[in-house]
Amino acid sequence: RAKTAGRAQWVVFDPEMRAAALERIELERQLTGALEAGQLRLVYQPVVDLATERVVGFEALLRWHHPVLGPIGPDRFVPVAEDSGLIVPIGRWVLAEATRTAARWQRAHPRDTPLSMAVNVSARQLAGGTLLGHVTEALSASGIPPSSLVLEVTETALVTDRSAVAARLAELRALGTRLALDDFGTGYSSLSWLRQFDVDVLKIDRSFVSLLDGSPDDAAIVHGLVQLGRTLRLEVVAEGVETAAQRDRLRAERCDLAQGYLFAQPLEEPDAELLLADSDAAAPRAPA
Ligand code: C2E
Ligand code: MG
Ligand code: MG
Ligand code: MG
Repeated sequence: RAKTAGRAQWVVFDPEMRAAALERIELERQLTGALEAGQLRLVYQPVVDLATERVVGFEALLRWHHPVLGPIGPDRFVPVAEDSGLIVPIGRWVLAEATRTAARWQRAHPRDTPLSMAVNVSARQLAGGTLLGHVTEALSASGIPPSSLVLEVTETALVTDRSAVAARLAELRALGTRLALDDFGTGYSSLSWLRQFDVDVLKIDRSFVSLLDGSPDDAAIVHGLVQLGRTLRLEVVAEGVETAAQRDRLRAERCDLAQGYLFAQPLEEPDAELLLADSDAAAPRAPA
């Protein structure tokens, strides 16, 4: 029977694909109870101002610690959460948790511009009808200024039905939240994206930042991306800064903000607070 079913049918029985499919099914089963079981946590990676190296905000990143399977990275489970729709309740929890933390940190560490909090939002969340409600809910429960919430979307999240996506993004921006284009430059339509959607922040993907250790031609690409963001008056964030040479180069390009292991890994809440306290202490005093 399999013989006459043609080549496509054989693919199903490929042992590697079969293993991958089984893993996904198993992960989905485990993920279903993970939120209620308290297995999901957020860690926070600082975003620093390149000119002053002060912490100006954080990006919330999901972590799943399974009691038997151990830590499972978001690159493995977020796609499963998206396919199964579990990303909707999980995303709601992420928004509530991240804004609650931001409110606490904003109170403890007042700044002229309140500390920002970036939250990743996936295609499935954007396509569903509940994101606007969940964002509104998180803003009012936490009381943070809407402009300190940054919603990060990737261009790959937006390949379907552009006008519907544009409408959704406009509703979110009308709340006063900011929008960031994450992993900028890695999709196939980055530039047309920028024309079609109103974004506030450009996050240059770390695959480009790592080019800063290479040839001058490679560095020219980063130069171009930073210039593009500056020309469009967007805030430009470099992702994945790992070396002092990369930092210096980005600073020379007048890139606004940066994230990366050079400054800090994503941190548990108490460690992030320690870092904030240090950043306060190091801050130059405003002239009297
Ligand atoms: P992303 O939003 O582009 O996040 C940046 C990723 O780069 C994070 O991986 C972060 O830990 C990592 N990173 C930061 N600095 C460096 C560095 O200097 N070097 C290197 N090599 N990596 C660095 P992570 O935490 O594993 O997250 C992976 C992706 O999973 C995220 O990419 C995001 O797309 C997704 N994700 C994470 N949390 C959430 C969430 O709450 N909701 C949704 N929908 N997606 C999430
Ligand atoms: Mg992100
Ligand atoms: Mg990114
Ligand atoms: Mg990413």
